[in-house]
Amino acid sequence: MKTEIDLSKQELIDALFQEDEKIKDIFDSASNLRELREKLFNYLNSLERDYFNIYSHEDFYKKHIIGKNSAKECIRVFKNIIRTENEELSGFSALDALYKIYNKDQKLIEETGNGFLIEFLFLIRGINGKSRLEKTKDLSSDEITVELRGKILDEYSKGMLDSYKKFSKGTDKRSIKNQKIVKNKILEYFSATEDDWKDYKWHLNHIIRDCKTLSELIKLEEDEILGIKEAEKNKIPFQITPYYLTLFNENGRDRNDRLVRAQVIPSKEYSVSVVKNQSEDSDMDFMGEKSTSPVLGVTRRYPNIVIFKAFDSCPQICVYCQRNWEIKDIQDAVTSPGKVEAAIDWIQKNKYITEVLVTGGDPLTLDNEYISLLLQKLLKIKHIERIRIGTRALVTLPSRINKELVKSLERLNKLGEKEICIVTHFEDATEITPDVLVAVKKIKKAGISIYNQQVFTYYNSLKFKTCFLRKTLKISGIDPYYLFNTKGKEETKDFRVPIARVQQERKEEARLLPGIIRSDEPVFNVPKLGKSHLRSWQDHEVIMILKNGERVYRFFPWESMLLLVEGYVYTDVPIYSYLKRLQNDGEDAEEYKSIWYYF
Ligand code: SF4
Repeated sequence: MKTEIDLSKQELIDALFQEDEKIKDIFDSASNLRELREKLFNYLNSLERDYFNIYSHEDFYKKHIIGKNSAKECIRVFKNIIRTENEELSGFSALDALYKIYNKDQKLIEETGNGFLIEFLFLIRGINGKSRLEKTKDLSSDEITVELRGKILDEYSKGMLDSYKKFSKGTDKRSIKNQKIVKNKILEYFSATEDDWKDYKWHLNHIIRDCKTLSELIKLEEDEILGIKEAEKNKIPFQITPYYLTLFNENGRDRNDRLVRAQVIPSKEYSVSVVKNQSEDSDMDFMGEKSTSPVLGVTRRYPNIVIFKAFDSCPQICVYCQRNWEIKDIQDAVTSPGKVEAAIDWIQKNKYITEVLVTGGDPLTLDNEYISLLLQKLLKIKHIERIRIGTRALVTLPSRINKELVKSLERLNKLGEKEICIVTHFEDATEITPDVLVAVKKIKKAGISIYNQQVFTYYNSLKFKTCFLRKTLKISGIDPYYLFNTKGKEETKDFRVPIARVQQERKEEARLLPGIIRSDEPVFNVPKLGKSHLRSWQDHEVIMILKNGERVYRFFPWESMLLLVEGYVYTDVPIYSYLKRLQNDGEDAEEYKSIWYYF
C-alpha cells in the first residue's frame, strides 16, 4: 500500500486540500492572503475552543484527552506558522505558498517539495484530532485487567527485544572473530608484536592517515576511496587508530560497521564543503566558542563549569566533530605551556568556577606525567571540586587506560572532596569490545565514574538502535549522560537527524527502558549559548515550514534570561528526506510515522 511519502506531488496536493472541508472552503472563499490569514486564525481558534468546551459537539469534546492535546499542539504550531512575525523571522510565508498552490500557481508547485506538502497534510489531520498518537484500545478502565495490561507490556517488550536482534555488540562472537582477523593483518603489515599492540604509544605512532595503507588493510568501498582521496588532496586530516580499524568489517562495508566507517572516513561531499567554507572564509566555529572564551583555551557558557582545551588533536578524528575547525593532524599538534598556564591562572582567579571539563582534542593523547601534573594543578585550586576528563580514548584506544594513568587518577580522586570522572563518547554497541571492558573495569576499580555523551546521528537513529546502545553501555559500567542532536554544520549534513526524531525516540523508545538505563538527556546545543533541553517545550518552537519541507525552529534556552540574549533561529533537515533515506536503506518508514507530530 502506498504511504504518504510514496505519493506524487499532485496526489499530495489533492489529499492536502481534501483533508478538511472547512479549510478548503476558507481557501476557496478568501480573495487575498490577508483575508485567508484572518479566516484561518478564526477557524483554528474556534477549533481549539471546541476541543475543551464540554458543551461543544461530541465529535470534539468526547475525543480522548491525548488526541485533544495533540490537536491543541498542532493548532499552536499551525498558528505559529501563519503568524506574520514568524514569516518575517524566517524570511518565508508558508501560507502564501499554500495559497498559490491552491490557486494552481505552476511555478510555485514546481518549486515546492513533497516534504512541505506532507507536513501540512499531517498538520491538518492533527488539528482534526487524527494524529492517533494515543494507542487506546477503546476500553474502559474496568476492562483493563492485570492480565491484559501484562499482555500489552509483553508485546512492547517483545518488539524491543526482536529489534535488538538486528544490532551487534563488540563482544559478539562474530565481532570478536573479525576484530582478531583485522588485528593480525595489522600486526603483520607493520611487523609488530602482541606487546606493541598493548602499548598505546605504538598505536599513536601507527595511526592510519592515508588511503594506500587503509586500502591495503581493509576493503574500502568506491565512495570511501573517493572521499579519502578528496580529503588527501585538500589536506583535510583524517586519522584512524589501528585498534579502531579492527571494528571495520574486513570484507567491505556492511550493516554492522557502516556507522563506524562513516565516523572516520570523510565523504567527498564533506571535504568539498569544508574547502568551500575555507575559500569563502566562513567561520567553521559553528558553536561560536570563540565568542565565549574569556582566555585562550577556556570556554565558559554556564555559571559553574568551564571547558578547558588542553590539547588540539585526537588519536582519531571524527568526521562530524563540532571542533573540526581547530582539531589538528596529530603530527602538527602542540602543547603550549604558556596557554595552559594562562588558562589555569584564569580559573584560579574565578572563584565561581567549581568544575572543569578538561578536553581538547583528546587530553588522553598526552602522556601520564603531563596529565597528572595538569590535574594536580587544577585540583589544588580551592574552589575546584570536580574535573571531568573528556576523552574518546576508551573508544578509540582502550590500551591508553594503562596502570600508571589509573593509579594517578585514583590517587587524585578524593571521595567527598574532589572528584575526577570520565566523560566519553560511544556511538554504537559494536564499539564496546572486550578490550573496552578491560579498560572500564580498571577505571571503575579506581572509583572513577564514566559517563557517555552520544551524538544522535542518522546512523544510530534507527528504531531501537540507541536503546540497544544505552543498554549495552549501562551493563558495561558506563552511564548514558547526554544525547546530542546533530547541529546545522553544512559539511556534516549526512549525519543530521530531524529534531522531531530525537523527541520521538525519547518518548516512544527510550521510555520503555528501565529508568537507570535511559539516564541521558536529549539536548540541542545552541551556538554561542549552550544546551537546550529538547524535552522542555518552553525552550523551542516550530515557527515555519520552508518550501523544501525544512522546519524552522526558534530556541529560547535558559540563557534567554541573560542580558542581551536573543532566541536562536535554526533550520532543521526535512523529515521527508530523512524518512526517504531510511526507506532506501531498508527501514520501514511507516514505523516512524508519528514523527510528524513531534515539534
Ligand atoms: S574525539 Fe571528540 S574532539 Fe576528537 S575528533 Fe572526535 S568528536 Fe572531535
